This record gives sequence, structure tokens and C-alpha cells, in this order.
Amino acid sequence: TEALASRDGEVFSAIEKELGRQRHEIELIASENIVSRAVLEAQGSVLTNKYAEGYPGRRYYGGCQYVDIVEELAIERVKQLFGCEFANVQANSGSQANQAVLLALSKPGATLLGMSLDAGGHLTHGAKPNLSGRWFDAVQYGLDTATGLIDYDQVESLALDHKPEVIVAGGSAYSRRIDFKRFREIADKVGAYLWVDMAHFAGLVAAGEHPSPFPHAHVATSTTHKTLRGPRGGIVLTNDAEIAKKINSAIFPGLQGGPLMHVIAGKAVAFGEALRPSYKSYIAAVCENARVLAETLREGGLDIVSGGTDTHLMLVDLRPMNLTGKASEKALGRANITCNKNGVPNDPEKPTITSGIRLGSPAATSRGFGAAEFREVGKLILEVLDGLRKANSEDGNAEVEASVKQRVVALTDRFPIYQAM
Ligand code: PLP
Repeated sequence: TEALASRDGEVFSAIEKELGRQRHEIELIASENIVSRAVLEAQGSVLTNKYAEGYPGRRYYGGCQYVDIVEELAIERVKQLFGCEFANVQANSGSQANQAVLLALSKPGATLLGMSLDAGGHLTHGAKPNLSGRWFDAVQYGLDTATGLIDYDQVESLALDHKPEVIVAGGSAYSRRIDFKRFREIADKVGAYLWVDMAHFAGLVAAGEHPSPFPHAHVATSTTHKTLRGPRGGIVLTNDAEIAKKINSAIFPGLQGGPLMHVIAGKAVAFGEALRPSYKSYIAAVCENARVLAETLREGGLDIVSGGTDTHLMLVDLRPMNLTGKASEKALGRANITCNKNGVPNDPEKPTITSGIRLGSPAATSRGFGAAEFREVGKLILEVLDGLRKANSEDGNAEVEASVKQRVVALTDRFPIYQAM
């Protein structure tokens, strides 16, 4: 019954500081968002106490009548959101959702064709240090260097040469729409399963701002905490009853034990929010804001990989300003603008340095930023980067950074989050 503040001052104080950081920094990390209080409340609920191994109506524990209601709601809502027949909402993370696909549809040693990490793919799509790259024979496709778009001809020729069991489409730093139909045609040529990992753009699909992986994908996975604006977690979707059965067994008992019922409650709430008309306007604003930010940065002399964005994110190539991703991320951070360094196609720098930064609009749009604010954010970024370039040192220009920070704090104060918490 004792509140956190008096029970554990150390943890309480760190959480308070994190709240302050979120309130006063402009969050441009493309994979993050700001959930509603309702989602926070569901996730912070007594459902964390409950064991519920199994699925609704077929559990290995008693007392599951109420968590069953919650999981059924999450399943029904997410099926409606993506117009599909089956959903598993128990994956603890996007990575575990992806592992479930590999466990369900292939075996160690099988060939997996996915986008390489440096082209914008995800670790779980066959990267060397990941289980998907260690236990599978991973073949990786990349981008057409002239256009910055997925090189579909390369995907096809790699598929024909290597005959993968599974082909994965989707990524973490790819800002353009993906041609799912073309991917399925390639998969069909070699008898592969097509798996779409829509972790980043799932919210856009839900709102009709991005083509759906269905009916082309055999299976689709997603995280729930990016554009979908729910708690951290994963989902797996399919229209195929056989695959659905295999996915359910792969999640439990294949990979996980008791599902995180409090997180599933948060997912149910977020899916409910995404079904409302206001979510459609939110996602439309997310896409418009990303376009405005990309345009402002281009006008300021930076390159955007592929020339722009169709989604919520963009990859900024800093080479025209002769800056690294590492130094830029740090300088922007000192000015309360949060983003992450990211490799650009054929990056001459190491992955720990990089020549790019990845920027996304979902979180700042959630706090109410519109096109005018995103134009201002673009100008603030340019100011910091210009200061860094002229300083000719990783320490940047302290005066410029302090001045931008002041304006960032003023801007965030105009769009407060989590008031009276
Ligand atoms: N798939 C893609 C495309 C991602 O971008 C991410 C997260 O960055 C994941 C999967 C993994 O999600 P998680 O961090 O929840 O394991």
C-alpha cells in the first residue's frame, strides 16, 4: 500500500527525472512514442500479478477469467485494425515475435533472405550477431544505390540463387513504401514464405496511410510501441489457419512462458485507441510532419536518403556538412533534441560512428506538434549542426547549443505531456 516515492526513493527519483526528460526534450527517435495515460494505467495494473500460460479459454492456470477478457479484446481489436483472421498478442517484444516466425516456419540451418542491417534492416532479419544470423543461413539484400530504394531485382536474383525458406520484408530505417506484391511474386517463384515485419510502419497501415502487407504476406509481425503507440511488445498476424497454429505454439510453449497480461491490457487499450477516427488524423499528421521536417533539412543543405520520406521516418545523410552521426547525435542531445546515429547506404564510417542520423515524427506529433513546429525543429537541428561544423570539434558550439536548448524547452512547454503526474 506504500507509494513508490516513500517505499523506494531511488527508483522513484530516477522515474521522475525520466519524466522531466520526456517533458522537455524533443523526441525524434523514430521507434519511440508517447502513450496515453490509459495505456500507462493498464500496464501499471494488478494484471502484472497473474500467470496465464496458454491462450484464452485454454490456460494452464486457474483464475484466468478476467485476463481472458483482456486478451480476447486485444486479439479482436488488432484483427479489426489490420483486417486479418488471426492474431497472437503475447509476444513480449518485436524480436520475440520475429523469433516465433522463424521457429514456426523454418529450422536452424534454413536459408533466410532479409534486408541487411546497414541498408536499414533489423538485427532479427539475419544479422550476424543475432540468433537469426547465427542459427540460420542468412542471405542479405540491400538498396539500389542510385535511388536509395530496395533493390527488388537483387532480392529476386538472391532468392533464385539461394532458394530461401523465408523472405522477410520490412526494416528499421527504411523511409519508403515497400512493394509487398513484388515480394510475394519473388517468394512464390522459389516457394518461400513471405514474412513482413511492419514494426515501424504498422500504425500507418492501421490508419490506411501505408499499403497493408495483406493479402501478400503469409505472416506479419510488429512491435506495438512505435507508430502503434502502445506498450512495448510484439504481435504476430496471419490469415492462414495452419500458420496461426504454428505461431501460437512457437510463442507458447516454444519461446515464452507466462504472457505479460498487464502489457496485453496496454495493447488492448492502444488498439482500441487506434480504431478511433482521431488516430487516423494523428497518423496523417505524423506523415505530413515527417515530410515537412525532411523538406526543411534538405533546404538547409542536408541529404535525405532516397530524397525524402513516405512514412514517419527519414535517414539524414550528414556528409554534405562533413559531420558524423555520433557527434551530431551528441550535439543535438546537448540541445535537448533526441535522435540516434544511423549508418547511411555504403557508409564510409564504422557503425559506432556513422554518417547519418535517423529522425522520426511519431512522438513529437503525439504531444501536438504540427507542421509549423516541425519546421521550427528542422531549423533548430540545422542551427546545432551548423554550430558543430563551424566549431570543428566534437564538443560543438556551447553557446549555440544552449540557445537552442532554451528554445526547445519553451517549445515543449507549449505542448505539455503527462500533466499533474
Ligand atoms: N523489427 C523491426 C523492424 C524493428 O525496428 C524492431 C525494433 O527496433 C524490432 C523488430 C524489435 O523490436 P523489440 O525492440 O521490441 O525487440
